[in-house]
Amino acid sequence: MENFETFAIRTQTERSQFDEHSTPLYLTSSFVFQDAEDMRASFAEEKSKNLYSRFSNPNVNEFTDKIVKMEGAEAGYAFATGMAAIYSTFATLLDAGDHIVSCQSVFGSTHTLFTKYFPKWNIETTYFKADNAENVEQYIKPNTKILYLETPTNPAIEILDLEFFGKIAKKHNLIFIVDNCFATPYLQQPIKYGADVVVHSATKLIDGQGRVLGGVAVGRADLIREIYLFARNTGPAMSPFNAWVLSKSLETLAIRVERHCENALKVAQFLESHPNVELVKYPFLPSHPSYEIAKKQMKLGGNIVAFEIKGGIEGGRKFLDSITMCSLSANLGDTRTIVTHPASTTHSKLTDEERNEVGITAGLVRCSVGLENVEDVIADLKQALD
Ligand SMILES: *Cc1c(COP(=O)(O)O)cnc(C)c1O
Repeated sequence: MENFETFAIRTQTERSQFDEHSTPLYLTSSFVFQDAEDMRASFAEEKSKNLYSRFSNPNVNEFTDKIVKMEGAEAGYAFATGMAAIYSTFATLLDAGDHIVSCQSVFGSTHTLFTKYFPKWNIETTYFKADNAENVEQYIKPNTKILYLETPTNPAIEILDLEFFGKIAKKHNLIFIVDNCFATPYLQQPIKYGADVVVHSATKLIDGQGRVLGGVAVGRADLIREIYLFARNTGPAMSPFNAWVLSKSLETLAIRVERHCENALKVAQFLESHPNVELVKYPFLPSHPSYEIAKKQMKLGGNIVAFEIKGGIEGGRKFLDSITMCSLSANLGDTRTIVTHPASTTHSKLTDEERNEVGITAGLVRCSVGLENVEDVIADLKQALD
């Protein structure tokens, strides 16, 4: 059982006495012990046994085991949301006075952690820009502990070279953490390039159907052990129900992501040919500035296409108002195609200058390409652009 699709399907919790084919839902907050010795040995971790569902649960373990294998990790722990995974990872691994070096384009709530909350504990973050990545070493200080990346970035769809950053992290003895949400382990496995911990929002392509929230951190066993102990004492655990849903989702991850990427490439090619589109950013278009790096580290280009439409903020708003089928929603990685206009929504409070700093121009539209027939998606985008 060595292939991705096979262990996504065949990694399964031990069957119960009913010999069920598909793993049942284990809605139980706690587990029982045979006797005093069983209880002692279980608590002493001499036996691997579920004790309490804040620590572990059969459904959560099945989901986690799959992601661990998919990412080529040693161990993992699943969380209620992606942000719970990201926050717990940082909170476990950082001490007061530590320093983080991160790419500038990070998920909004991660940016808020870095700028609003971590300074309370005297933890400072320095951002580097994707187009200046080769000079990242100048930001590393004696108290730098973590190198943090997202690739592809949101919403600018920049690609950062995992092999390069893996080497930098190793040279400076930094803990290298990658948010692999946009790629999923099917397209990209950062551990191959030296990542110590990989974090995910399972809410996106891992569920892929816009139903449940979830998060996971996988990586080096020694680090995950500490993250697990932090989580088991602070309580951000994934619910067994969500784990059950997400483990089913993983059974179809490969086939879904493949179709998402095939559709996204067609959408990107269509957009490139439309006269009202100024620029298209998609990792597997030869026009992408990091096309070669994307080809090296990603199996396919992902499902997010960013494009710049003519007419600035007003052009972007008019485009959204003309969309008839695609959804206007903040989520991504759903079966349903979603379009957003960051400059008039998520990033509306920033000045033009601040937006340009993070690669969000006035007419930038982000499209999370879904699994509808791609001809229908293109037809909707086309009539709105026309
Ligand atoms: C959505 C997202 C998160 C946060 O995940 P939640 O499950 O919403 O908490 C983190 N990183 C990236 C890249 C995301 O897209």
